[in-house]
Amino acid sequence: MEIIKSIPEMKQWSNRVRESHKTIGLVPTMGSLHAGHMSLVQKSVSTCDVTVASIFINPVQFGKNEDLDTYPQDLEGDQRQLESAGVDVVFLPSRQDMYPDGYKTFVSVEGITNHLCGKNRPGFFQGVATVVLKLFNIVRPHTGFFGDKDWQQATVVETLLRDLNIDAAIERLPIVRESGGLAKSSRNLYLSQEEMAPALSLYCALERARQRVQNGEFSADVIRQEIRQMIEKNQQAKIDYISVCDPENFIEHDEIKDKSLIALAVHIGKTRLIDNCIVRRAECKE
Ligand code: AMP
Repeated sequence: MEIIKSIPEMKQWSNRVRESHKTIGLVPTMGSLHAGHMSLVQKSVSTCDVTVASIFINPVQFGKNEDLDTYPQDLEGDQRQLESAGVDVVFLPSRQDMYPDGYKTFVSVEGITNHLCGKNRPGFFQGVATVVLKLFNIVRPHTGFFGDKDWQQATVVETLLRDLNIDAAIERLPIVRESGGLAKSSRNLYLSQEEMAPALSLYCALERARQRVQNGEFSADVIRQEIRQMIEKNQQAKIDYISVCDPENFIEHDEIKDKSLIALAVHIGKTRLIDNCIVRRAECKE
């Protein structure tokens, strides 16, 4: 497995691979890798000729009071996992090379970024869209792999690539969870023992909501309210948003439709967690 840190070297590598008509898969990450990331890596390794995994904690997607300086890092552990999964290149650009002094250009995807995670995190999706476009321009993958855990992010990336005519496909993979149901996240490392039960309430509330829809409850307000009640039973939980919305444009639904997204963001102590699921009216058993 090659480690490439320089942007020109990464571009040269990519040009060589493309000249030999091999397909390139890219898995962009911020490191501290877990089974969620590795599901994307495995998919890329099994479907593309070569796989590049990038590890870059992208400063421009963090807000002022967020955890940029404390974001978990485990470069050695990450490299071990990537090597044994059969990754060809780990791309590790520096912040200075990605955003040199005088850096001026940011990309924004309009509309869909005003909802959910974009509402209370100004600049977040602009930071995500900018870094993804830069990584795609440097690595020039045929396919990029993204997780549905960050549902809105994957949708923003799909929109960005389509609107800017970038010739790359996006493959989205399902959420990987801990055995109890908690969605795997690098930020789970922040959770104390006492915060585990409140953290699990996100998954429990989503599962309960899914059952309620299956049993014929189609009022989005009722579903939101029930989720809120379940989560607020935990004193450490502070809800950022609970949404029942269209899975493509994130406009709130009045009632559950053929396909609705239920998405949550909740602070448990100092840790911000997100989770989501898709519910379908057709799944109703009655
Ligand atoms: P991150 O390192 O948090 O920026 O995540 C890198 C990629 O891994 C993103 O596409 C995430 O959606 C994906 N990812 C993170 N956690 C999970 C998970 N639990 N299941 C599936 N994909 C995930």
